[in-house]
Amino acid sequence: MAAHGPDAKTLMEIADAYGSNNYRPLPVVIARGEGVFLYDVDDRRYMDMLSAYSAVSHGHSHPRMVRALSEQAARLCVTSRAFHSDQIGPFMKELCELTGMEKVLPMNTGAEAVETAVKAARKWGYVKKNIPAGQAEIIAFEGNFHGRTTTIVSFSSEELYKKYFAPFTPGFKIIPYGDAGALRDAVTDNTCAVLVEAIQGEAGVRVPPDGFLRDVRRLCDERNLLLMLDEIQTGLGRTGKMFCYEHDGIRPDVLILGKALGGGVLPISAAVSSAEVLGVFVPGEHGSTFGGNPLACACAREALRILVEDDLPGRAARLGGRLRSGLEAIKNDQIIDVRGKGLLLAVEFGPGERTARQYCEGLMAEGILAKETHGTTVRFAPPLVITEEQVDWALERITKVFAS
Ligand SMILES: *Cc1c(COP(=O)(O)O)cnc(C)c1O
Repeated sequence: MAAHGPDAKTLMEIADAYGSNNYRPLPVVIARGEGVFLYDVDDRRYMDMLSAYSAVSHGHSHPRMVRALSEQAARLCVTSRAFHSDQIGPFMKELCELTGMEKVLPMNTGAEAVETAVKAARKWGYVKKNIPAGQAEIIAFEGNFHGRTTTIVSFSSEELYKKYFAPFTPGFKIIPYGDAGALRDAVTDNTCAVLVEAIQGEAGVRVPPDGFLRDVRRLCDERNLLLMLDEIQTGLGRTGKMFCYEHDGIRPDVLILGKALGGGVLPISAAVSSAEVLGVFVPGEHGSTFGGNPLACACAREALRILVEDDLPGRAARLGGRLRSGLEAIKNDQIIDVRGKGLLLAVEFGPGERTARQYCEGLMAEGILAKETHGTTVRFAPPLVITEEQVDWALERITKVFAS
């Protein structure tokens, strides 16, 4: 198989030559995947500790996902929303039953689901809260990551994401993450919603202080604001609960899902909410050609069934605890923090001999793929199907690389 195609070096050169320079991947060329493992073009095996930023929680090519994908692909893939399909209704019903919500608006990527939430919140603000036309405000948090559209980067605090992409969409305020007092001060009569991550994944797995989400919930209730939780990365079992907000005993008004919703085989995202909020749209105001296509809906339905039947949230809690204790036991003075929940963990390095990128290159040489963020943090987020033995196998190698 590998011997017939171009070698890894050639493939990376082709990608460099023809691709835009918007990513800087580790120097490895993946040809196939199975469960927690990836195999490069020379059939070298690696454990995947990134899971495509949590999109592959079910593991690579989960047999049930492959079956659902291929059976539906043979039957019907795409209709657009101009017609009903026999998959979209049951998908939305099942997602509502899982989340305890009333309505779903399916899209494809996470960023589109966030855009959907932003548009729904603004219209809700105008028609339900009587905010003067054009004045609706949404509050977001420093360090956030909600996607890459021009509107979404308008409220990013990351210089790199914004510098050359102005002008931006107005109507957003950015306040410090974890600071409920700052939120109280930022709310005005024109505020319609608060958009927040239960844990900031891309910022380096930043867990907010205890009680923060409960304070946000209380403020949203007091001031009649929509609490919009972006659980694109933290949702669907990743943190040891089906949804990360369950750790805090709260419920959002709008839940934004993506990534693992596609079971690791294709993109599907959704904004999930009440009839009061998602009921604001009229035909034509919002949509997507591929959003809610029957192939994606069939895959999402199977992905949700696997999550529940195989108790992937429970696995994330149990195996995340095991991985975390192992990471905490590593002796290296450069490690200043080990944090996260379930199987969304990160090790942060202080200033020292090696960068996070160099640690990741060391891990790669040992057969583990992990990705650094912000130059100082290495994230560990393997597929939730990982076993005890596989966690121990990984810990042996991580310890060797980090402790040396
Ligand atoms: C990945 C991610 C997004 C964006 O999803 P895309 O599918 O890349 O558009 C938004 N919010 C969070 C929290 C994410 O982790």
